[in-house]
Amino acid sequence: MTRTSRMLSLYRGCRVPVLTHTAGPGPTGVIAGNMHGDETTGLATCLRLDTQLPSILRRGKVVLYPSLNPDGLRAMTRYFSDGVDLNRCFPGDDSGSISSQAAHHIWTDMMGQQPAAVLDLHADSADAAPYALVDRGVRLGPDRQPLEDAALGLAQATGLLVLWEDPDAEYIRYGMEHSLSGAMLNHRIPAITIEAGPRRMVAHGAVSTVIRAVGEVLASFDMMDPMSTTRWQGPRLRRCAAPTAQSAGVFVPDFAPGAFFDAGEQIGSVLGTSGAVLDRIFAPMAGCVISWAECGWISGRTAVGTLGLEEN
Ligand SMILES: [Zn+2]
Repeated sequence: MTRTSRMLSLYRGCRVPVLTHTAGPGPTGVIAGNMHGDETTGLATCLRLDTQLPSILRRGKVVLYPSLNPDGLRAMTRYFSDGVDLNRCFPGDDSGSISSQAAHHIWTDMMGQQPAAVLDLHADSADAAPYALVDRGVRLGPDRQPLEDAALGLAQATGLLVLWEDPDAEYIRYGMEHSLSGAMLNHRIPAITIEAGPRRMVAHGAVSTVIRAVGEVLASFDMMDPMSTTRWQGPRLRRCAAPTAQSAGVFVPDFAPGAFFDAGEQIGSVLGTSGAVLDRIFAPMAGCVISWAECGWISGRTAVGTLGLEEN
């Protein structure tokens, strides 16, 4: 077992650590954290894996990129140094903007690892169910199904709730094919995003959840021993914004993140401070609560959270 540590230059004046653990021949797993500066679960997960891998990695190589956005980390902001969402910039451009250059150098370094899998670690809201997110192979043509199946396999191996990204048209419109996992998938590298919140702080439970999820993915490549987490067996769910509240008020959810509801069921309500019901929020179709809005008081015309809705 060997461990090496080096610095990768993203643009002039910004270098990030790359920690590599090698346990002989075998597949390579790439694990990235803190792409969004205020999402620190992945960073803490990478650092804990850095101490644990020497005793648990049995074969192959794991390459950790603990923080892809150190300026955003210090400023506690989602965005990169130039105010852009780095996770919409891949594969990047060496002669482009600061974020585009950074994406290019991250991309080139990761591709040079010839990864069997790429796991990009993010954090959802303060009150969210942890999940694995599967991208859409919108640029893959006939290779689409095998690559999407491979990504789904990674997501199922995590043992977390599995969600699919938006349908193709919205997926392209929102630039998701330029997220790290979306660009990897569309360049034929199996990749997923893992979301476990809260943002801004390192929550012990969230880090433990993601360590277990990553460990199960590595175990699915026989790189370490499995922890016997059960696989996600539920319906095929798509990540969607929850319905919009029509009135400002206190949003009170009827379900905890991770709970399932039926089509048409009330999932929460908007109340005034004297108890008046200003709006009721109903499920558009059957599904599961992913996360709720992070503020108790919501303004009108605001989505009250994120849902996983059943997809046929
Ligand atoms: Zn994120």
